[in-house]
Formats: sequence, C-alpha cells, structure tokens
Amino acid sequence: MDKCSFCGREKKDVNMLIAGMSGFICDNCIEQAYNIVQEEMKSKNKFNVDSIELMKPIEIKKFIDQYVIGQDDAKKYISVAVYNHYKRLMQKDSKDDVEIEKSNIILVGETGTGKTLLAQTIARMLHVPFAIVDATVFTEAGYVGEDIESILTRLLQSADYDVSAAEKGIVFIDEIDKIARKGDNPSITRDVSGEGVQQGLLKLLEGSVVNVPPQGGRKHPEQKLIAVNTKNILFICGGAFDGVERKIGQRLNTQVVGFEASKNLQRIDRKNLLQYIAPQDLKSFGLIPEIIGRLPVLTYLNPLDRKVLRDILTEPKNSIIKQYVKLFSIDDIELTFDEKTFEYIVDKAIEFKLGARGLRSICETIMIDAMFELPSSDTKKMNVTLKYAQRKLHKVNMKKLKVA
Ligand code: ADP
Repeated sequence: MDKCSFCGREKKDVNMLIAGMSGFICDNCIEQAYNIVQEEMKSKNKFNVDSIELMKPIEIKKFIDQYVIGQDDAKKYISVAVYNHYKRLMQKDSKDDVEIEKSNIILVGETGTGKTLLAQTIARMLHVPFAIVDATVFTEAGYVGEDIESILTRLLQSADYDVSAAEKGIVFIDEIDKIARKGDNPSITRDVSGEGVQQGLLKLLEGSVVNVPPQGGRKHPEQKLIAVNTKNILFICGGAFDGVERKIGQRLNTQVVGFEASKNLQRIDRKNLLQYIAPQDLKSFGLIPEIIGRLPVLTYLNPLDRKVLRDILTEPKNSIIKQYVKLFSIDDIELTFDEKTFEYIVDKAIEFKLGARGLRSICETIMIDAMFELPSSDTKKMNVTLKYAQRKLHKVNMKKLKVA
C-alpha cells in the first residue's frame, strides 16, 4: 500500500501522493515542509550579518543624510567609525600582528538633536540587531535597578535570540553622562549610580563573554543564562553632558598662552564650544578614563537652529509632514501646507523650547481635527494655511505640548 513516508497517511486519505526514489510524500507534508523552509529563510535573512555589503564612508554618510538633517561632523565621524568597525569584522585571520581595535562611539549634544536617530539610522542601514538603553536605569549589582547585563538582554530580544547576530549588533546607550561621577574627586561614600556602573559598563565595552539572562531582570532566577561575546558589538553612547562647555572653555583658556596662542583664541567660536570637545573634558565631567579609552570616537551634535528645524519638518525620507501626506492619501485626500505654516510650527517649537521633538506634538495638535473629520467627509483636498494652524493651536494650552 502506497503511503506518505513522512506522516504515514495512505493514498486514499490525502489529495496527492508524490513518489520519490524510495518513498512518497503527501500534499500536507509538502505544505508543512515549505512553511518550515520559509520560516527558516526569513530568520536567516533578517539579520544576515555575514553578508553586510560594506559601504564606503561617503556612501554611509549619504545614506544617513536621507534621515538626519545637518550634523555633518557627527555624520562624518560615525561613517568612518562604522566603516572601520565592519572592516574589522570582515578581516578574518590577519597575517600580521596588526589588530584593528573597536571604534565605539560617544556622541555629545543637547537632548533632541538627533543622537538616537543617528544610531537608529546606522542600524537600519546595516540590518543588524539594534537596542536602545538608558544608562540611568542601571545600578551596581545588588541595588534596586537593572543590572548592566540587561543591555544585552535587549539586544538578544531584538535579534530574536539569534546569538551570533546579536554579537554583531549595535547598542545605543543614552544618557551616559548621568552615570558620571559627581565631581572630579572620587567620593568616599558609595556612589550607587556612578563609578560602579561605569566599571560594569567597561566590561561590556572592552569585549568579554557575558552571561545574559534571556528574560532580563532578577525576577526569573531559574532562567538559563546565555553567553554573549561583546567583542564585536558596536556601542554608541550619547549624552547631553550639561555644563561641559564650561570645562571646554576653561581648558581652551588655560591652554592658550603667549602671542601666537592668543591669535588662535580669536578663531575660537565661543557660541558653540561643543565642537572643541576632547576626551579630557569628559574626564573632568566625571567619566572614568578607562571608559573614555573604550569610546575612542568622540564627536558632537549642534543645537538645532531655525533652518534645521524647518528642514526636519519636510526633508527626511520619513519626515513628519510626509507621514501626514501619506496618511491622508490613504483616504484619497490631497494634503498640502503653506510655507508660512511651516515657519509658524518652527516658531512655536522654538518659543516653547520644544526642539525637534516638539515639532511632532505641534503638528499633531494642528492636524487632529482634520484627521478626525475628513475621512467621513467628501473633502478630497486640504491645504493647511497659517490661519488654520493658528486657530487650532490657540485652542490648546501650550503647556500640554511640553515634552519631558
Ligand atoms: P536625542 O537622542 O539627541 O535626544 P533624538 O534622536 O531622539 O534626540 O531626536 C528626537 C527627534 O527629533 C527624532 O525622532 C527626530 O524626529 C527629530 N530630530 C532631531 N534631530 C534631527 C535631525 N538632525 N534630523 C532629523 N530629525 C531630527
């Protein structure tokens, strides 16, 4: 009797039975096998870290340009760092003793200037697992809060627990400045959120095998730990480092002595001291030298001026305004904006010190009524004029728009 060699069903119980060299397969089993293959391929392709097509730094920057406005210096540093990082990964057994070191990155800039966006964009470009973590939640082991290892839990989760993909991923650690030691001299009292955390972080940055609780936290003591090697994980740290300009200023002032030096001083752009940031400023701020040493690529982000804010509204590939236009087009409504409306939105974001993050909440307030009403109406065109925007915004209490 002919029957499926996989499930054992007889010919009369299936739609089709296909003969092979030494057995049969039924249509049910073909379908199941096909689904298994599809699933397997999908997870393989999701993070195909071994076949990353290495773009040159100029191409990397061009890619970032599509999503991030301005910040040319930061883009240049990041492009080179990422290029070198992946060159390092691809270098198999090098014949000489030259080992390329990891180029972890530290980005210094006010909140809302695009640090997270930069890191996100790089991960998007490379199709590697990406995790964002906030340094403020970490405490030394034994204290209330999260252990440093949970950084890797997040990365594992975003890699669907594919350990080898996670080991080539990118981690963005936000608010790294918040774990700086307060003041330059080590305190005698225990500093729960400071140096101990930096020491913990150092272990990850240096590249070591870390045992990671797959579910994170300490609530599941029974979970089996997964060993993750951080050697090839790219860490990008970001922080506002409030007040670091003062340290930079002091350093620049003390460094320059004599006639030649005072000529140099003239050229210092006092309005934007962050561009002169150097490792020793991070040390004065309270990061331990070992951490600074493990973050060799140091760059800065500019505060966002009017022009940049204006461009952020419409220029990025997935800009806020492009998103509204798309949302409306799904209802066959053609959405347009007057240039004056854009200027007004920018004015308000500046006036209320909301930065780029505020652009979204202001737009949302202006658009909410239209988004609520138009899908049920016959309207096929909408132009958002300055007057319309003013009317909608006046209705709300601006304090409500404040972003944390
Ligand atoms: P940070 O990490 O520096 O606090 P984010 O990257 O989270 O800032 O930026 C907040 C939001 O502001 C982003 O989602 C993005 O929409 C917008 N934004 C900030 N800076 C830029 C920029 N240079 N180009 C495009 N969008 C930006």
